[in-house]
Amino acid sequence: MNNKDPRQHVKPAVRAITAYALAARRAPVKINQNENPYDLPETLKRRVLERALLRPWSRYPDFDPRELLEKLAAFSGWRADGILAGNGSNELIEALLLVTVGAGTRVVIPEPTFTLYALLTTILGGEPVRVRLTPELEYDAEAIARARRQAGAAVTVVCSPNNPTGGVLGTADVRRLCEDGDGLVVVDEAYHEFAGQSVVPLLGQHPNLVVLRTFSKAMGMAGLRVGYLLASPELAGEINKARLPYNLNFLSQAAALAAIDAYPELAGTVGRLVEERDRLIARLRDVPGLRPHPSRANFFLLELLDADPKAVFEGLYRRGVLVRDVTSYPMLSRCLRISVGSPEENETFLHALGAALGEARRDVALGRA
Ligand code: PMP
Repeated sequence: MNNKDPRQHVKPAVRAITAYALAARRAPVKINQNENPYDLPETLKRRVLERALLRPWSRYPDFDPRELLEKLAAFSGWRADGILAGNGSNELIEALLLVTVGAGTRVVIPEPTFTLYALLTTILGGEPVRVRLTPELEYDAEAIARARRQAGAAVTVVCSPNNPTGGVLGTADVRRLCEDGDGLVVVDEAYHEFAGQSVVPLLGQHPNLVVLRTFSKAMGMAGLRVGYLLASPELAGEINKARLPYNLNFLSQAAALAAIDAYPELAGTVGRLVEERDRLIARLRDVPGLRPHPSRANFFLLELLDADPKAVFEGLYRRGVLVRDVTSYPMLSRCLRISVGSPEENETFLHALGAALGEARRDVALGRA
């Protein structure tokens, strides 16, 4: 019997980090993952399932999902030979970093941001170069440009809108970054529909620009895992080498095609969520002790000025409302992240928050927390 720890063969950089994980909590009002509260219409789901019934399930899906790529090209305004489709945009983030990051490769990553970028960079032996947001939690375009130059970064990542803060980097700033050196500039537009802005029009002039998008948020399809990447055809061809064969199953392909067709209808939910976001933020701004941060996405940060965020998180959960505890992120030790739900869910959240806040403050007054 060999008692040696099998983990000795795992790369030290991997053993040194903690996994990206989310506790599997359930709640009637689930506003913790920036999902769309509005499910796809049942008629659309039926059409997709009927299409799937006509196809042999014993056969692999397309090696290259040609029909979907053509449709994504028309949908996004970019050329089909510069588009890759993936099993969620997560998979394309991985493929992109697999082909660009090796031992010591520097990747400029603002912080706080979506944690997958730094995690994968570290696993691949690269070096995340972290650039803080401003104290107001906005992008500091100058600091990003400086860090990129100083580090000679191969890749610079900007989520716009940013998760979990909700801020955007302006198109002019992205253009300046692309022109200032030849390192890749990756703009993750997972939430772009809610911001009403995109840098896809810059792709034609900037071969070092990569844009990532997803069907998980505005398109309401997180459960089926579809994302896409847009870049120059040459660069897309290289990233494609790291894409796993048959990565996108045919059911998800069919659903993505149907969702694009139905987008004029689905887009209504984006407008409703943006209105609800602004209504929630305005309501919370009037509550003493709360500071909701402005956001261009379908979520926002709620800063608790005089109550323990973890106590408020648990108080909300006991009342059936699950939000995201982001207190472990840099700069966010007093914040919770709230995804915008349906008007009914948001009302439940507001009521639960009032009660949870009262409870958390009482606990402090009584010396229990
Ligand atoms: N990018 C950002 C900024 C995100 O917040 C998320 C989802 N949390 C993703 C990418 C991944 O989305 P998916 O894999 O569902 O497309």
